[in-house]
Amino acid sequence: MRLDLGAAGRSAPTTIPERLTMLRKELEGVARAAGREPSEIAILGVTKTQPREAVLEAIAAGLQDIGENYVQEAREKYRDLPPVRKHFIGHVQTNKAKAIVAGFDVVQSVDRIEAGRALAKAMRTLGKRLKVLVQVNISPAERFGVAPEGAAALAAALRDEGLDVDGVMAIGPITEDRAQLAAAFERAREAFAAIGGSILSLGMSADWREAVAHGSTMIRIGTAIFGPRHSAEGTHP
Ligand SMILES: *Cc1c(COP(=O)(O)O)cnc(C)c1O
Repeated sequence: MRLDLGAAGRSAPTTIPERLTMLRKELEGVARAAGREPSEIAILGVTKTQPREAVLEAIAAGLQDIGENYVQEAREKYRDLPPVRKHFIGHVQTNKAKAIVAGFDVVQSVDRIEAGRALAKAMRTLGKRLKVLVQVNISPAERFGVAPEGAAALAAALRDEGLDVDGVMAIGPITEDRAQLAAAFERAREAFAAIGGSILSLGMSADWREAVAHGSTMIRIGTAIFGPRHSAEGTHP
C-alpha cells in the first residue's frame, strides 16, 4: 500500500517520528487553507495491530492521544504508559463496559442507550468519569453508529443517564467521490452542532484532509503514523 501523504516526488517517510512530523506539517497547511488554526485539530494515533514499542515511540515523539478498537488488545499494550489520553474507538459491548471504563479516558463510540447505561453504571462502580462521544453513522459501509436523525435524541438520553457527552465521532464512507465524502462529513458536522461539546472526531489516514475542511477537531490516524498494520484485518472492525 502506498501512503498518500500528499508529498508527490518526495521520498516516503519511514519511521514513526518522521511520519508524525510529516503529518503535523501537512495538517498545518491543510488547516490554514481551510481558514482554521492548526492547534484546533488534535491528532489521535490509532494503534490497532501495532506493538507497544510503536506506541511508546509515538508518545516520545509527542503524540498525546491514542486509540484502540478492542479492550483485549489495549490491556497489555496500554499498561503504565507515560501521560496520554486513551480513547476507545471500537464497538461498545455492554459486557465490556467495566473494562472499557477501567482502561480508557474517552469512549468515542457510544451509539445506543444500552451501551451508555452500561458505561454509566461502570463509571459509578469504579468511581471514574469518562467523556463520551456519540458515534454517528454517515456511511453505508458502516455497521455501527446512530443514524444522524437520531443523534441529538441519543445525546440527550445519554446526558439523562449522567454521562458527559462531549461531541461526535464518525467514520467516513470508503469512496473516491469527493462530493459523497463532503456530504457525509456535513452530516457529521450537523450532528455535532446539534449535540454540542468540544470534539468532532472525523477523518482517517485516507480522508483527514477533507475532514479538516469540514470542521474536524480530532483526526484518527493509524497507517499514516504507524505504517501498514501488522495483521490481516479490515480497516473498519
Ligand atoms: C482503524 C481506524 C482508524 C485509523 O485508520 P487509518 O486508515 O489507518 O488511519 C480510525 N478510526 C477508527 C474507528 C478505526 O477503526
